[in-house]
Amino acid sequence: MVKTMSCRQLGGACELEHRGGTADEIIVAQDRHLEEAEQAGDATHQEARDAMRGRWRRPRKSLDWYNGVKRTFAELPEG
Ligand SMILES: [Zn+2]
Repeated sequence: MVKTMSCRQLGGACELEHRGGTADEIIVAQDRHLEEAEQAGDATHQEARDAMRGRWRRPRKSLDWYNGVKRTFAELPEG
């Protein structure tokens, strides 16, 4: 089952849509997108990029975010 989440739904700054069969696939796609945005010098995504990077240093906050994404993903309609 494939679902779609936008960059903005994941804490980002644009409406780019990621499609994936699991929340983890979408998180990986968003991670890549943020990395590309940073490399392109896109300042609008910097905050989300920093949050993504800092997540590994703040496991509790990270888990809240991760569970939130998983919950949103689970509630999404297919497509
Ligand atoms: Zn984006």
